[in-house]
Amino acid sequence: MKIGIDAGGTLIKVAYTNGDLPEFIKFPISRLQYVASWISEFSNAKICITGGKAALLKTYMNQKAVDIVEFEATSSGVSYLLARNDIPVKAFILTNVGTGTSIHYINKGEHQRVGGTGVGGGTIMGLSKLLTGITDYETIVTTASKGARDRIDLKVSHIYEGSEPPIPGDLTASNFGNIAILASEGQLTKEELLASVVGLVGETVATVSVLAAGQSGLTSIVFVGSSFIGNDLLKEVVQRYTVLRGALPMFIENGEYSGAIGCLLYL
Ligand code: ADP
Repeated sequence: MKIGIDAGGTLIKVAYTNGDLPEFIKFPISRLQYVASWISEFSNAKICITGGKAALLKTYMNQKAVDIVEFEATSSGVSYLLARNDIPVKAFILTNVGTGTSIHYINKGEHQRVGGTGVGGGTIMGLSKLLTGITDYETIVTTASKGARDRIDLKVSHIYEGSEPPIPGDLTASNFGNIAILASEGQLTKEELLASVVGLVGETVATVSVLAAGQSGLTSIVFVGSSFIGNDLLKEVVQRYTVLRGALPMFIENGEYSGAIGCLLYL
């Protein structure tokens, strides 16, 4: 048995195999100790760990484990998933929307971290709690999917009312910036608020990624990270905004397990 683990700020992602295709499982970070005892049942397993909580997880484990740098694990996992899905792209920007967002340049074997933003999945969780009191991820995501953003966000077309804007009118001029409407209309619904939170995060992540792609002379952007799990609205926002800004977005199945897969491949 081989086990690859990516212990991040919010979730622990595990990829394991007995020689066949890898299987995947995830746990909340609050179950770090449980994960250590779950792994201990596989006494002869080869184990590789990555992520910000790797060192902490190792303190709970009684087996040996190698640890590798998270960005290396993620990029090797993504290359594996692209090959497995017959996606022939070799040079691309990799944007990992985890608790925060990190952005990498990948060209064949070469990779380099080019930046990131603190706006990510953690922002969805935090702002959702502050604005609506909801803390459960699935409730946030399903509620957001039912909301409209036009009473909260200000679009370029709102500002250029009646005239032709110099940039696409559909771009957001100001997330949460529709002050005139916000001041004059009644209560906003949880659906509207959460849809706008997802909009803010998706548009920020897409915009930063497109700028990174432009800087590197690339157009393909591969988006991974657990923030996309069950969150079709975030995918739609990122997809639409990336295309609107001239780049080519890609999402890969099980992309959130890239770090764990990279660990598995290391063994
Ligand atoms: P990290 O490696 O930093 O833990 P992830 O790629 O696992 O990051 O993404 C964490 C984000 O995934 C959370 O901030 C949240 O938006 C989203 N998420 C998906 N599923 C869950 C879940 N079951 N519980 C909490 N957050 C979740």
